[in-house]
Order: sequence, then C-alpha cells, then structure tokens
Amino acid sequence: MPIQPSGQLLPLLKTYSLLLVLLAAAALSAWAVYAVPAPAVDRMLEADLRKQATDWRRRILLHLEDGAGSFFTGQLDQHDIEYLSLLPATTDAYRIKLFQADGRVMWSTRPADIGTVNRKPYFQQKVAKGAVYYARGTKPVSQVDGFETRDTGAMAVSREVAEIYTPVLKGGQFAGAIEFYSDITAVRDTFLSRVRISLALVSAVMVAAIGIVSVVVIRTNRLSLRQMQQRAAKDQEIMASQMQLAREVKLLGELNEWLQSCRSLDELFKMVSEFMSHLLPDAEGSIYVFSNSRDVLAGCASWNGGGLKDHIRPDECWGLRRGRTYEYGASEVEFTCAHAAPHDGRPYFCFPILAHGETVGLMHLRAMPPRAGDFATCKPLAQMCAEQISMAIANVRMRDQLHDQSVRDPLTGLFNRRHMTDSLRKHLNSGELNCTRLSVIAVDVDHFKKFNDNHGHDAGDMVLRAVSTVLEKACDGSEAACRPGGEEFTLILPGATPEEALARAELLRQAVEEISMRYGEKTLPQITISAGVAHYPAHGLLPQDLLRAADEALYAAKAKGRNQVCAAAAGTEAEQDAAWRAAEQAASACPPAAGANKAG
Ligand code: GH3
Ligand code: MG
Ligand code: MG
Repeated sequence: MPIQPSGQLLPLLKTYSLLLVLLAAAALSAWAVYAVPAPAVDRMLEADLRKQATDWRRRILLHLEDGAGSFFTGQLDQHDIEYLSLLPATTDAYRIKLFQADGRVMWSTRPADIGTVNRKPYFQQKVAKGAVYYARGTKPVSQVDGFETRDTGAMAVSREVAEIYTPVLKGGQFAGAIEFYSDITAVRDTFLSRVRISLALVSAVMVAAIGIVSVVVIRTNRLSLRQMQQRAAKDQEIMASQMQLAREVKLLGELNEWLQSCRSLDELFKMVSEFMSHLLPDAEGSIYVFSNSRDVLAGCASWNGGGLKDHIRPDECWGLRRGRTYEYGASEVEFTCAHAAPHDGRPYFCFPILAHGETVGLMHLRAMPPRAGDFATCKPLAQMCAEQISMAIANVRMRDQLHDQSVRDPLTGLFNRRHMTDSLRKHLNSGELNCTRLSVIAVDVDHFKKFNDNHGHDAGDMVLRAVSTVLEKACDGSEAACRPGGEEFTLILPGATPEEALARAELLRQAVEEISMRYGEKTLPQITISAGVAHYPAHGLLPQDLLRAADEALYAAKAKGRNQVCAAAAGTEAEQDAAWRAAEQAASACPPAAGANKAG
C-alpha cells in the first residue's frame, strides 16, 4: 500500500520521537538512580561518623582515670582497660585504638596492634594538627573483628569499613589520637537502597510527567493544527463562494442591463437563454409563456439542453396551480408535474413568471446529473433570475401595449391613420418594396349613417368590428389593414400588382356582403362596402397622392351605385411621366407585371 505522505507519516514520526524521548529519560533516570546516591550517602555517613567519633572520644576521655594525660604517660589502669574493652558492644565501632603523639599504639581492642606505630603521613600532617581524619574502604571479612558473631547469615567476602582518627589534645598540645573502626556496610546499603528507591520513584513520576506533558502538547498541537487547517479550508471556501457570488451579481447586473434594452420578446428569450447557461451552468432550463387565450403556454426558450415542448397546459404544472415556486426533490411526499415528463427523478424547480401581479409564464429548471445532490443551493439565484425575467417580460409587454395604443384604433384593433401614413411612407422610401410595387385599397361602408340611425350607434360599432375582422384576415405578412377614421378603411398591399389588388378588393367586397349579424333580438340587414384601388407608381409617388387616388376611385365606386370596386384613373401628364420612369426602373429590376391597369 502506498504511504500517504504527510497524512499518516507525521503522527507516526511524532509517536516514535515521543517514545525515544521517554526511553532516553528512563535511561537517564536509571543511570542517575544507580550513580548519584553512593557519593552522597558516603558523604552523609562520613559526616555522621565524624560526629559520632568525636562523641565517642569525649566519652572515652571522660571515663579515663587521667583523661588526656594518659596519652602522655602511655599508662592505662585496669578500670580504663575494662571500660575501653566494653566500648565495641555499646558503640558502632568494632575496633578502637589509642595512639600516643608519636603514632605508637598504646592500647587496642586487638591486642596484636599494641606497640605498632602509625607512620602514615596523614597522622602527622592532619591528626597531629588537631583535625579528624576519615578514611573509607573495603576490607575482607577476616579483618573485621567479630563479624562472624554479629552477622552469621552473611555470605559477603568483604565489608565497607570506615576508619576515623580523632585527635586528643591536652592544654592545646597534641597528646595522641583515638581511632575507631566502624563496619558501615549495612547502614550504607540501607541508606543507598532507600535513596535509590526514592530517586527511582521521583524519576518514574518525572518520566511519567514528561510523557503526559509531551502527549498533551502533541495532542494540543495536532488539535490546533487540525483547527488551523479546518479554518484555512473554511476561509478558502468562503473566498470561493464570495468570488462566485461576485460573478453571479455581475452577470445578473449585465442580464438586467441587456434585458432593459430588449425590443421584443423573441430578443429577450435569446438573451435569457445565453445568460442562464452562464449563470446556472449546472441546470437545464426552459421558459413557457401564456398564449393570448391563456389556455396554454407556448415554449419560448431553453438552455443547457433543457427539453422544450411546443405547448403545455397550465394545470400540468404544480407551480402554476399553486401560484408559487414548486421545488421537486425537497420533500418526503411530492408529485411530479405532468409537463416535466419524461422524468428520471432529478430535482427541479418551477418558477411562475409574474408581471404586474399576473402570471405570464413559467421558468422550469432541472438539475443536470453532476449537481443533482446540491441543486437546492441554486434556488435563491434561480429565484432572482426568474424575478428579473418577469420584470423584463412585463417591460417588453408594457412597451408593446403602449406602442399598440399609439398605432392602433381602440374600437377595431386595426392600425390608425398615423401608422397608415407612416407605414406607407416607410414602404415608399425604404426601397424594400418587392419589385417596387405597392397597392392601396380605400374602403368605405355604404350608407352607414342610415345604418346608425336605424339600428343605433352600438350596432354600428359592431358592424365596424365585423368589417375590420374581414379586412384583417385578408392581410398577410407586411400587408396592413388600417382604419383612418369613421367607417373608412385602407389596406396597404406591398408587392401587389394592380390586378391582384383589384381581385383582392373584389373578394373583400364579397366577404363583407356575406356577413350576417344579430343585434339583440333582430338580425341586422346586409352590409356592403365600396372600394377604390390605386397603385404605385402609376397613380402617385407620394403617400398622399396614392391615398388621394384611391379615395377618388372609392368616390367613383360610390357614384356608380356603391357595393363595387373601382381602380384609380390615370394621373396628370407629369405624374404619368414620373410613373413611367419609375416603372422603367422597376422593370429593369424585376420581370414585367402581367396585364395593365384598367381605370374604372
Ligand atoms: P356613404 O354610402 O356615401 O358613405 O354614406 P354614409 O352614410 O356611409 O356616409 P356619411 O359620411 O354621410 O356617414 C358616415 C357616418 O358614419 C356618420 C357617422 O355617424 C358614422 N360614424 C363615424 N364613425 C363612427 C363610429 O365610430 N361608430 C359608429 N357607430 N358610427 C360612426
Ligand atoms: Mg360611408
Ligand atoms: Mg364615409
């Protein structure tokens, strides 16, 4: 298995280094426990024995018949000898020697020593000068008096022995010295073992304390390291989300700006598709807008591969039915919208699009597979997008309505006089005409005043609307049906030849003749119209000339008895010349029109 670089190695290294530190501390402690106590104990024993020896010397001098004077004479009486002989039994000294000032042994608990002379330098250099001399060493058990009788069970071959020389002074003069031999083996061992046990305990406690402190420190470090890493990761996350937020806010601002400049819903939906694929790259989306009849919603835009249906019904969407955002995939019990079929279980949103309090459409967003898990997080942004789109649709619709109001007649919905003249001027000036031909049909309802008088103004309005419907249905593409005023109408037919225009006018006349209407209880009488047809360039090059020519043709139709169609008469000589030149130009640009215009 590959080793994880810093993830597992670092704690392992830390654990091993901690073990090493603990082992080193334990070894150091063991060495200290073994090596440190012996010198200390020896110094302690030395101090104690020096004191004891001084004490024993005082007792001896007090008991001797002549005290320190005996050392000058070298004489001891029987009583002195008895007392001295009993001393090893009452003190820790197993051998006692009395020296005269020259180093000669005047008495000893070991008779063999009596008469021998101590010529060692320390005797004259230290003891003779009044100092206590202490020496410690190892001696075979055979040299330790009475050892066998004191400690029969011991298997030792040697003993720790201390020799203490205490000077005897009389009148400030060195009279001699007393030497005590003390077997300090037992006492030294006891002290040593006690000190060692104490040290071992203290060391164990210290090693344990070091271990605990190290573990705590390492744990604390590890914890703070982990906390720091977590904090850094969190900071990074916050930074990333803030950058994402900034990007989204910027895009939303840009979307808003673009949407403000939209001139039509088609343009708006194109922009929305483009922006949504950037704003919510992990969501498929589509937009539906209510038709004028409000019984269905038409599919208008989609992005990121979102399925777009031609039409959906409002009752197929839970969002539209409940009048608020529907979030599928957020609850335990939920139902799929019928318009979302085929549905594979991915979460989705349905945002109703509202404009001025009215539901105008639906934005449907569905999670793309990689984001299905945290799809809910994009809801606030999606909601903001839906609101912006709603506002933009409302703006475009309002602009459309205002434009309609300014160019359409409120009674019939046909274009008004202003739009009629504008549109005509535009066609004649723009050069966009189909082979530079255009026909105008002027229409007037016959005897409409009488109709109004007989059946009332409301019935008259009904007739005007019915005639308008016929005229509007007859128009296609760039053709326009207009109501310049009263019971008069004008049709602008770009690209229509005079023959075609005449034929269309005749068809219109017949269609109006066939209108049958009921007003209240009664059936209204038949309506008829008269029409005059003029053609560009034959009857005029300017809008007003064309319209006038068409009107004159209409008057001619009226004069001929009404309910008929008349073509405009030929114009003046100058008009004919201009028309001829224009026709020439038209002929060079396209095939000649079939047939000639017949004046009515
Ligand atoms: P003609 O056959 O010669 O055209 O006769 P006419 O009666 O149709 O012509 P006239 O110009 O004498 O009358 C037009 C009438 O149209 C007068 C007016 O009351 C009526 N009228 C104009 N605008 C409206 C309208 O918006 N609604 C209704 N109901 N009547 C209108
Ligand atoms: Mg009329
Ligand atoms: Mg009229």
